[in-house]
This record gives sequence, C-alpha cells and structure tokens, in this order.
Amino acid sequence: MEKKNYDDLIKKSPLLQKMQRGEEVVWINPDLCPFETAEKNTELTMADIEDAEKRLERFAPFIMKCFPETKDRKGLIESVLTPVPEMKALLRDKYGAGLEGNLLLKQDSHLAIAGSVKARGGIYEVLKHTEDLALEAGILKPGESYEKLADQEARDFFRNYKVQVGSTGNLGMSIGIMSAAVGYQVIVHMSADARQWKKDLLRSRGVEVIEYESDYSEAVKQGRKMSDQDPKSYFVDDENSRNLFLGYAVAARRLPAQLQELGIKIDREHPAFVYIPCGVGGAPGGITFGLKQVFKDNVHCFFVEPVQAPCMLLGMATGLNNAISVQDIGLTGQTHADGLAVGRPSGFVGGVMKPFLSGEMTVRDGRLYEYMRDLLQTEDIFLEPSACAAVQGPVKLMESEKLQEYIRKHDLEKKMGKASHILWATGGSLVPPEVREEYKSTYLE
Ligand SMILES: *Cc1c(COP(=O)(O)O)cnc(C)c1O
Repeated sequence: MEKKNYDDLIKKSPLLQKMQRGEEVVWINPDLCPFETAEKNTELTMADIEDAEKRLERFAPFIMKCFPETKDRKGLIESVLTPVPEMKALLRDKYGAGLEGNLLLKQDSHLAIAGSVKARGGIYEVLKHTEDLALEAGILKPGESYEKLADQEARDFFRNYKVQVGSTGNLGMSIGIMSAAVGYQVIVHMSADARQWKKDLLRSRGVEVIEYESDYSEAVKQGRKMSDQDPKSYFVDDENSRNLFLGYAVAARRLPAQLQELGIKIDREHPAFVYIPCGVGGAPGGITFGLKQVFKDNVHCFFVEPVQAPCMLLGMATGLNNAISVQDIGLTGQTHADGLAVGRPSGFVGGVMKPFLSGEMTVRDGRLYEYMRDLLQTEDIFLEPSACAAVQGPVKLMESEKLQEYIRKHDLEKKMGKASHILWATGGSLVPPEVREEYKSTYLE
C-alpha cells in the first residue's frame, strides 16, 4: 500500500501527537449512541448471536468427546467470573485507583482447549465450517448427535480439507488445536513476534507452522494467498470474519447467569464497566457487541491497547479504520503483549463498534508486567502480559479527567457505589512454567 502522509492530520490532533510520542492516552468515543439508536444500523443482531450459541450447544457432545477436560461444563467452553477484592484493594493502595463497587475478573485466560479468549471465536469458526461441510456432504443429518463427527469415518472425510490462519499466536493455537481435533490438515502462518512455545505446542499437535520475518498483516496476507490457491482450503480471516465475531459475542449471553450466581446486578441503577485488551479487534469487538445487546445502555465497554500498537484507537479516532496503520504515525507496532501486536485494525469491527464503544485507553508494556505481578501477588492468578492490559481500565478511570467527565455526562456519579468493573482476562493458562518465570522477572520502563 502506498504510504500516505498524515502530518496534517497529526498536527490538528493533540491525541495523535501524544500517541505518536508513545505516551499513554485515554479516548472517549464521540460517536457512542444510545443502544436503541445504535442497534438500528448494524448488520448483525441478537438473533445471529443466538444462532451461534445454539450451534455451540449442538457441538457440545463432540467437544466433550474430543476434549474430556470440558466434561464439567458438558462440552461448553466457558470461563468463571470471580470477584478480585484483594486486587481492588491493591489498585487503591498502589495506584490511587479507589474504585467503589465490585471488581471482577472474567477468566477467559483459563478457557478450556486454547487457554485464551480465542477459544471462543477461533473454535466457533472451525465448528461452523465443519458443520457446513458435514451437512453438505451428508456426513451429518439435521437432528443427529454431533458426537458422530468424532468417528473415524468423519475424520477421514475432514482429512481431505485444509484450514489456514494467520496469527500472532493465540488465534493460531485455538484454530490449530480444534482443526487438528476435527481431522483437518492445518497450516498456521505466524508473524515474527509469535512465541516459540506456541509454535512448539502447535507442531506437537500435528499442525504445520510457517514462520514469517514480518508482522501480523503480512502473515495474514501470505496465508490467504496460499489458501486461495487451494479449493479445499478454508482461510480464517481474523480481520473480517463475522463468524469469529459471533463466537466471541456468545460470551455475553452466558454472563447474566454468572452474575446472578454472584448476586450481582447490572441494570439502570447498577452500571457495569468492562475493560478488554484489543489486538485486531475481533475478540473485544464481538464481546462488546454481545454485551451491548444483553445489557444495552447499562454497560460501558472500553478497549485497551499497547502504546506502540493502538491500531483500533487510531482507526476509530481518525475515522479511517483499516485505511491507517500505527506505522503511518511513526509507531513500531511492536510490543511485549504478543496478542496485541497488530498495526492495522479490522475495518469491519471498527465500523460495527462506532456507536457501541465507550472509549479506549493505551498502556505501556512495563505496566503490563507490573499488573501481572500485582494479580499474582493479590489473587494468585496468572495472566499473560497482554491480558493484563485490562487492568489499565480501572486505573485510568479514576485518574483521567476525560473519564470522570464521561461518568458525569452519563449521569453515573451517584451510581458508582453500585457499579461493577469487569477486567476481561484474555489469556495465560497455557503459558509454560519457564516462560512465566521469565515474565515475572521482566521489568521495563
Ligand atoms: C487475541 C488476543 C486479544 C485481542 O483479540 P483481537 O481479536 O486480536 O482484538 C487480547 N488478548 C489476548 C491474550 C489475545 O490472545
């Protein structure tokens, strides 16, 4: 793509100037609309999310058979939502972020099979494709138990097909592991920043891993090219996939029951703030879309991105979406938060999020390790650095004048004592012990 000159754009925007200097910023979305207005202009609806939810239920017997660790939840891949009161106290004492209300951790870090939020979207997309192929070929008839798909006959059928994906790591793991379980040939195209242990784990499952010297966008481009040349190959397109997005959105449908179990309400008097780490945008976008459908104006969703890779913020704040990359404003796109090392956002997600997202914050890499140690120390829960970006949410909420103004503008001041803050922990449980040790002793600016 031709390199455009954005000097004029940057000159006019104090926000872009701060971003360009690699400073942490807070951005409030000026296009946020009341839910009633926002929902009128979206191509996807609650019915699409319900359809995805039902599909995952149909696949539950199959999942349970292939992955016995999902037995407890009868083949549903779901994570716990837990209060983290010690972390809440630490945020107050260490960062001066004295939150009122509840601080909760949504532990997608501990989702079965893939150990990250990608177990939602990635696995859903592989299953959707599998259902399409199986119904078309008559391997599966409507109404039959999907357990049948674990039989040798089905596996032999899927062996003729290929699944490919470009990934910084975690998406490749979820697509790779699930595709291999179904029986597909799988190729994961990995960018330079992907961790060695993720490549090793995938290869141990029979997944072909192709490594690139370049960044994520290039890995996606090459992967798509190879896949397009093969009529039996299916390419999982992280930048544009509606299926991935809907798989993530299902998370929100399952949240009300979890909240109820904890005796926590989300309604007009009890607002919720949700903070989600963002890479290309699919996971946080899908989750946010689902949450807005379920809780409407009572939920306020914020994305968090690294200071060197704030692609979604850049796309949304300039309105240029995927026409601009972080490199265009002189940032590196490089970060220790490997799942978030994305230079160009999903244009599809940016467009869908425009009326729904409350805002964004960015975070320095050094803080991610600090937050990681904080959570280990207070709650004995390990998250990978990328996932710890979520913690920046409440810290900035209390510190930033812009966010305090957001609270006043939405008439939330008096309700903050009854609010819930949800840190969406997006990954970590598969990180091997020696890498955890390395993370624990990493200190950056
Ligand atoms: C992928 C990922 C994200 C962000 O998801 P996107 O769909 O890329 O925005 C956040 N955290 C972790 C740990 C991830 O692996």
